Amino acid sequence: MVAYVRRRSATFPKLRIALKIYHHIPALEKFGSMPPLKIKILLKVYYHSEVICIIRTTNDKQQTTNSTMKIIPLSEGTFTIDKTKLFVPFDKSADDLQQRPVGSLLVEIQPFVVVTTEDVLLLDTGLGFRDADGTLQLHRNLMNNGINPGEITKVLMSHLHKDHAGGISFFDSATGEGEKQLSFPQAKYYVQQQELDYAYEKGFPSYITDEFDCLKNNPQVVLLNGNGVIDGYIKHEITGAHSKYHQVFWIVDAGEKVFFGGDDAPQLQQMRSRFVAKYDDDGKKAMELRQRWWQHGQEEHWTFLFYHDVKNPTWKF
Ligand SMILES: [Zn+2]
Repeated sequence: MVAYVRRRSATFPKLRIALKIYHHIPALEKFGSMPPLKIKILLKVYYHSEVICIIRTTNDKQQTTNSTMKIIPLSEGTFTIDKTKLFVPFDKSADDLQQRPVGSLLVEIQPFVVVTTEDVLLLDTGLGFRDADGTLQLHRNLMNNGINPGEITKVLMSHLHKDHAGGISFFDSATGEGEKQLSFPQAKYYVQQQELDYAYEKGFPSYITDEFDCLKNNPQVVLLNGNGVIDGYIKHEITGAHSKYHQVFWIVDAGEKVFFGGDDAPQLQQMRSRFVAKYDDDGKKAMELRQRWWQHGQEEHWTFLFYHDVKNPTWKF
């Protein structure tokens, strides 16, 4: 049984509160004729249409989950990249920083898992490289952190450049090298429609389209059209800064706000300095957005996730 209560405040008309109460009756055969009463309460507070707070609790003390979100960086290693747009593995302990090609960048490749009260989210999918035994590196990294790929419930894609979209799909070695299939069988994939169209228009070397062919006409895929909010707590916004239809995400849960800026906000250092990057579609816009986010993040105590930062995967004010 589920009951909803939605209220609008008379004093603050933009403030809305949604209270959801679940009453779960476990199977009778398991508990005899007197099943324990279990009630879950989900309270969401909206300001305008944005969720500013979620509280989930239950009368079962062991399951009280007002805890913070769990953030797990899944590093695929450190790489150098230059004008050729090839990602070359870089061994920080053995390779000489000074011997890198002139003008090359040193970047981490680092998808993130964020465990919220509602979901196990994956933010971008890495390069899609495989281990010697054929296992997708992303799957291995998840399992090393105690997460089965089947537990991922949502995959949020900032954009489809090859260092972010490589792990969208894979060849399942169990079924042979036939068609590629989505790497997360239970997840919904959230991708901007225009980013997908643009990727096919541009193709190689920025996009490797056969890695995401299986996004097309797939019931697991949600094609987003512009800005919005997913399930009342994941806000997404197109920035058009790093790439034309790049989007960023804010995840608001348990009183916290996590920000994933993808390649609009790839490294801590770029947040702290005025830096126009040559590799951005609109470098000036990206710089201005970073300054605005850094300011807001400070005021509202955001946690930032940096996909390409070699030293600081996350930063919390
Ligand atoms: Zn990137």
